[in-house]
Amino acid sequence: MTAERLLDVQNVSKHFGGFHALTDVSLHVIAGERFGLIGPNGSGKTTLINCVSGALPCDGGKVFFNEQDITTAPGYKRARMGLVRSFQIPKPFVSMTVLENLCIPLEYAAHYKSQHGVDVQSEAREILQLVTLDDKADMTPGGLTQIEMRKLELARALAANPKLLILDEAMAGLSSGEVDEIIEMLFRLNERGITVIMIEHIMRAVMSFSERIAVLDAGEKIAEGTPEEVVNNKAVEKAYLGE
Ligand code: ADP
Ligand code: MG
Repeated sequence: MTAERLLDVQNVSKHFGGFHALTDVSLHVIAGERFGLIGPNGSGKTTLINCVSGALPCDGGKVFFNEQDITTAPGYKRARMGLVRSFQIPKPFVSMTVLENLCIPLEYAAHYKSQHGVDVQSEAREILQLVTLDDKADMTPGGLTQIEMRKLELARALAANPKLLILDEAMAGLSSGEVDEIIEMLFRLNERGITVIMIEHIMRAVMSFSERIAVLDAGEKIAEGTPEEVVNNKAVEKAYLGE
């Protein structure tokens, strides 16, 4: 394992009863990389992210983050280490304002780092600016449009100070122009040093964003390479045409 592997997934398997959702999946993501994870519906993408983030235990294999074995570490510890994922369905606190939604994770972060007296409100406003949601700070999530909800979910993930940000279909349901806006934002976050794993059905998005892509089919990794290598891969073509 080399020092630059921020995430190293080694032979991870996961079954639900007799159903094998993941079989011996290995992949690694280099620090600073923009990595795509694709595959037909039900191929195991979310299950893999659940195993990586600690939402589900692995049945086999190992997961390393920053060279540390995190295979059995609870999710909150992984998050503190900088491994942060966003959810397919945004889950904001509906009775709080957009700003307050960010203050909670920021206060939590400040508390465990014992950084008392940090100005959580101005940190929250900075993050809202990053995701161009600063003018919605005092609204409740109920009043947000779909893309604004997605930005809030992104902002909440950023509040956890990620080294690795994993986005599981963060652009589902957005218009083509809105997808472009989010991609541009993700490029900016990546330029600030955040490693990104994008799981996405919108091929155009994942192809334009990713430097490397891994492809899952029926719980197995069937291909990995540059976007160009992956689109020209016969096994990938077969997996998608057979969907
Ligand atoms: P993807 O995200 O690629 O669409 P998932 O990882 O969500 O796929 O699901 C992979 C397979 O595992 C699917 O067949 C799904 O029905 C099954 N699966 C996922 N989670 C569970 C669970 N908690 N219990 C039983 N089966 C599950
Ligand atoms: Mg999924």
